[in-house]
Amino acid sequence: MSNKKGICNIAIDGPAGAGKSTLARKLAERLGYVYVDTGAMYRAIAYYALLNQLKPMEEIISHLAVLHIGLRYENGSQRVFINDMDVSDQIRTAEVSMAASRVSAIPEVRTYLFDLQQQLAKKQSVVMDGRDIGTVVLPHADVKIFLTASPQQRAKRRHLELVEKMGDAAPDFDSVLADVVQRDHQDSTRAVAPLKQAEDAVLLDTTNYDLAESEEALYQICKERLNLE
Ligand code: C5P
Repeated sequence: MSNKKGICNIAIDGPAGAGKSTLARKLAERLGYVYVDTGAMYRAIAYYALLNQLKPMEEIISHLAVLHIGLRYENGSQRVFINDMDVSDQIRTAEVSMAASRVSAIPEVRTYLFDLQQQLAKKQSVVMDGRDIGTVVLPHADVKIFLTASPQQRAKRRHLELVEKMGDAAPDFDSVLADVVQRDHQDSTRAVAPLKQAEDAVLLDTTNYDLAESEEALYQICKERLNLE
């Protein structure tokens, strides 16, 4: 399935730490589509707000007109730019995660990114991941997947990643779990575009799957829906 121009869109939503970005990137690679990480866009705006010490966060609204979010691709991985500054590495801290969750509840921010995300999906085949892709951004996506895992499992994966990256300086498991639970709550109870499964999305729960199994399960869902050989 695809539209008249042969463009095909796959929407992947789910809570923090479900493995969306890793799996969506691998799926895009396998299908030859462009991977769009929408969380990185919210993170870039949050980073800008923190850098400029905007308080309250709503002050960001008056900056949106002069803010330019750019995506570029290097060796298949997405780099995010804010006003031509590459912030791809700086946006991955716990502080930015929490600020992104707050910034993403501001309706003006969502409208601003909604337009950008729709443009990207209109001009090329994409695997786009986020919280509201199947419900709001791409309601007519060819395949919609809701990717999840138990909070404990998601926190376990996040914690492992942080330990690999930061060694002894990594936060302990309990605080990673508390962050996961708090972000789940913020993302699913906000008034605009809350995180929820689209009615026509396929649920994929990876609690008991390793990475390879999750990757294969995701590919099989798409293969079936898109009638791929
Ligand atoms: O996916 P990631 O953890 O990078 O997203 C960071 C934050 O951005 C999320 O906690 C969520 O609040 C917000 N977000 C969103 N809608 C999206 C993608 C991310 O609200 N489509």
